[in-house]
Amino acid sequence: IYFWDADGKRYYDFSSQLMNVNIGHQHPKVVKAIQDQAAKLCFAHPGMATEPRGELGELLARVTPGDLKKTFFCLGGADANENAVKLARFYTGKHKIMARYRSYHGATYGAVALTGDYRRLPVEPAMPGVVHFLDPHCYRCPFGWTRETCHRECISHVEEIIHYEGADHIAAIVMEGVTGTNGLIVPPDDYWPRLREICDKYGILLISDEVMSGWGRTGKWFAVDNWGVTPDMITTAKGLTSGYVPLGAVIVREKIASYFDDKYLYAGLTYSAHTLGCAAAVATVKVYEEDHLIENAVRVGKVLGARLEELKAKHASVGDVRYIGLFSLLELVTDRASKAPMGSAVMAEINKFLREKGLFTFIPGNLLFVVPPLCITEAQLDEGLALIDQALDIADKAVNP
Ligand code: PLP
Repeated sequence: IYFWDADGKRYYDFSSQLMNVNIGHQHPKVVKAIQDQAAKLCFAHPGMATEPRGELGELLARVTPGDLKKTFFCLGGADANENAVKLARFYTGKHKIMARYRSYHGATYGAVALTGDYRRLPVEPAMPGVVHFLDPHCYRCPFGWTRETCHRECISHVEEIIHYEGADHIAAIVMEGVTGTNGLIVPPDDYWPRLREICDKYGILLISDEVMSGWGRTGKWFAVDNWGVTPDMITTAKGLTSGYVPLGAVIVREKIASYFDDKYLYAGLTYSAHTLGCAAAVATVKVYEEDHLIENAVRVGKVLGARLEELKAKHASVGDVRYIGLFSLLELVTDRASKAPMGSAVMAEINKFLREKGLFTFIPGNLLFVVPPLCITEAQLDEGLALIDQALDIADKAVNP
């Protein structure tokens, strides 16, 4: 869970770099698998079968839910999402895609069009045909409800938008399994199952972007496993290789795979199923199992949740804590009643303090992420959280009296 800078200073990595180094740094088994594969075969034509590609395809079919059985391999999260859109458009013959506002799906032209947040705006009009909808964000409910008064308008308005946009025109709904960079939004328990029902009702494909929320991060292989839902496609990258070599994947249900048995899929990539990426992924998936990392995410994740609640009880600057498995954040505010976000100067001061103390994490806006590698021990977690506890004293001073 540590890395060292050029001066030899050690840091707790509380964001697993970019929420991708899930197995921790420099795992010897994955390093060796990459070395061995490089010595054996560095590259093969993407139309050819290779040993690591075949083995990885089987492993993915085993760990993904339901009849998600066949994989298209690419290079990262953005192109996984773009290829999922192409597959959905070919398969359904429809073109519109629905995605959420508080979402990030990648930086390339098509993926950033799916993205709902501010990163889409500078490149618009990007990929046409994307329709955005609102999020199941209970702390800042876009419909103005509270948890007590909620009647799931976040679900019913999706159906209303489908009526206006035309079910016959909508190919797919794309959602992050659990929203990551846009504020770690864990949906209510009935959200994914009811979105599955809506998609089935209108003949719309359901795509779960598990680039960040997959690979044990939420205490399950994939976030959708928390709600027993089988999406029509899972897109993933990051934890697939734990970042050791770039690799992305679109895993599809059998009905979609078999549709292309006698049709050409125009989705060629020179580096599709790169042997080094596949070898790294095979070794990484085995590490999740052999090192019991997902079980650890559940066990230490419970401790993390309890500790975050304690920090919220102790510090007036903590407006909300959100967590599932080892995927969590603290949302800092200057006033709990109005939920006014903590200002950037204070957040920068917190970041500086934590870096000085040797803790690195992701601090966008008024959010402080706690997303450590899944191999973290309870003791290491407590050491890191003790530093965050101290840092929150800085934020408390900025709370309105
Ligand atoms: N989807 C999600 C949910 C992500 O968090 C990210 C990256 O952070 C992406 C897609 C894009 O992945 P990549 O940077 O590998 O293209």
